[in-house]
Amino acid sequence: MAAPPIRITVLGSGTSVGVPTIGCHCEVCSSTDPRDNRLRPSILVSFADRNILIDTTPDFRTQALRARIDRLDAIVFTHAHADHIMGLDDVRPFNFLQRGPIPIYGSAETLASIQRVFEYIFDGARKESHIPKLDPRPLASAAVDLFGVDFLPVPVLHGSQIIHGFRFGRAAYLTDHSDIPQASLEQLRDLDVLFLDALRYKPHPTHSTVDRSVKTVEAVAPRRAFFTHICHDLRHARAESMLPPHIRLAYDGLEIAVEGTR
Ligand SMILES: [Zn+2]
Ligand SMILES: [Zn+2]
Ligand SMILES: [Zn+2]
Repeated sequence: MAAPPIRITVLGSGTSVGVPTIGCHCEVCSSTDPRDNRLRPSILVSFADRNILIDTTPDFRTQALRARIDRLDAIVFTHAHADHIMGLDDVRPFNFLQRGPIPIYGSAETLASIQRVFEYIFDGARKESHIPKLDPRPLASAAVDLFGVDFLPVPVLHGSQIIHGFRFGRAAYLTDHSDIPQASLEQLRDLDVLFLDALRYKPHPTHSTVDRSVKTVEAVAPRRAFFTHICHDLRHARAESMLPPHIRLAYDGLEIAVEGTR
């Protein structure tokens, strides 16, 4: 059966500290180009009347208001670093609106970290005020069917840690990574759209660089690629002028349509 078409909205394209960065007055942090204004990294995957969120950044409330998100059917976590989880408490309005818990997906390790960081959500103790209502569902290596679209976990190396990117339909989103195992590259064939971490030009122990991600694009040959998790070393207009036309920088608010069927 054909899956519904997918719309991807980039909610944040910035690195962990965001751009502008607190206390920095460099030309990118001072830029008037709105594409140089980067909230923390996250996307919304929408199809039919469903919204799937990848990661809850510290900017989640702002991102949800900006993108006018008015329902949330599931959250999929790539890993439990602070820039990917700290907005989790802000999903409470969706619990009120939808009158039910929200399923959250991630590796067993990621969910365990989230349950530790947000202990008050999961400790089962009686509360005097509202806490998020969440339903943790661990992911193994198999794809999970979310309302008719398969989300396939794609293992990537983030420094020494193995975390997840995700493929859905003819798109894939690989945020934080420093290396992609060969078996994972095989999961990225026949893509229309590939999102890749490209923190900066200089090497970094846990993140990909512009040059490295250009090589990944050459290796798996998606029709188009978008770089994300970008720091203030990259000025949007200038960085794009040095890239081939099928590779662009993601920016907050960017919307892309792809097929939902693999
Ligand atoms: Zn990150
Ligand atoms: Zn700066
Ligand atoms: Zn990370």
